[in-house]
Amino acid sequence: MCADTVTAEQRSKLMARIKGKNTKPEMIVRSICHAMGLRFRLHRRDLPGTPDLVFPKHRLCLFVHGCFWHRHGCKYASTPKTRPEYWTQKFDTNASRDERCINKLKLMDWRVDVIWECELKDLNRIKERIQLLTTPPIKRA
Ligand SMILES: [Zn+2]
Repeated sequence: MCADTVTAEQRSKLMARIKGKNTKPEMIVRSICHAMGLRFRLHRRDLPGTPDLVFPKHRLCLFVHGCFWHRHGCKYASTPKTRPEYWTQKFDTNASRDERCINKLKLMDWRVDVIWECELKDLNRIKERIQLLTTPPIKRA
């Protein structure tokens, strides 16, 4: 009997579940927000682009975007060597959809921020940013 086979199968099932909606970067951002005691809803389908995290009290939508698929201008946004025109078209579609959704949300009076996968290397900065976004502005004298 090979116990390893079962484990590998279970692992791949788990990986399949992780991909898609509940991506790892998104889970990281969620746990940060949880730890900060913020209240949020997940994947609100009634909003353009189905924002990953929605903070109704702060009228804030957060997207957690993978650098590759959503074309962050960083080193992770590479273009595969094979069939470059296919990929370029796919990426253009993704990027313009993102832009359209964000604009729609703004027109609906939502504040929108995008957290990029590569930015999760510095969790303290992410935390500070979320803190700023969820703190009402202080009136300066
Ligand atoms: Zn990036």
